[in-house]
Amino acid sequence: MKSPLIKTVFFTEILKGLSLTFRTLFRPAVTRRYPKVKPVVAAGFRGLHALSKDDEGKLKCVGCGLCGAYCPSQCIHIYTNEGDDNKKIVERYEIDILRCIFCGFCVEACPFGAISLSEHYEYSNYSRAEFYMTKEKLLENWDRYFAGEKGKRYYREFWRPLSADMHGHEGQAMFSKIPDAIRSGGKK
Ligand code: SF4
Ligand code: SF4
Repeated sequence: MKSPLIKTVFFTEILKGLSLTFRTLFRPAVTRRYPKVKPVVAAGFRGLHALSKDDEGKLKCVGCGLCGAYCPSQCIHIYTNEGDDNKKIVERYEIDILRCIFCGFCVEACPFGAISLSEHYEYSNYSRAEFYMTKEKLLENWDRYFAGEKGKRYYREFWRPLSADMHGHEGQAMFSKIPDAIRSGGKK
């Protein structure tokens, strides 16, 4: 390591800086002329939200509220009701995008793969209302950004853990391993 005196006398830092300048002077510029030239977005990017649909095109969300509980910005609002068959109905699912920090916790917390973050990042607007995402808008986003195989691939490749990742240790007591006789209270 050179002493501060040598650095001062010989201007080593300035010479280092100048050599870097000369080395890069004739290289092509890397500045992208956005929006004419769009950046390549990596798969799994955390962009605008979407509510996932199942293979039959139905809403996957069951309204359990876990995503809202995990959300550090508290910007997810879910309103549910009970249907005729006593099943929970998700009446409203809303995200205040202006408060969202795109951490992805909602996606990780959801046990049903029902909320997703698309690769869409160009949604600037002049109205605050446009950033308040309703259930309908979020479902439209799924059709728009996750159509076909893309939606399935998203959960397979970018968001963990999946149920397939859950393994017990050797000999660990798990509900799925309780013998039928015990499970039925010895009635079998
Ligand atoms: S990405 Fe993070 S901040 Fe945004 S809604 Fe999901 S949990 Fe909340
Ligand atoms: S998106 Fe997932 S975690 Fe959130 S309420 Fe729906 S099912 Fe529950």
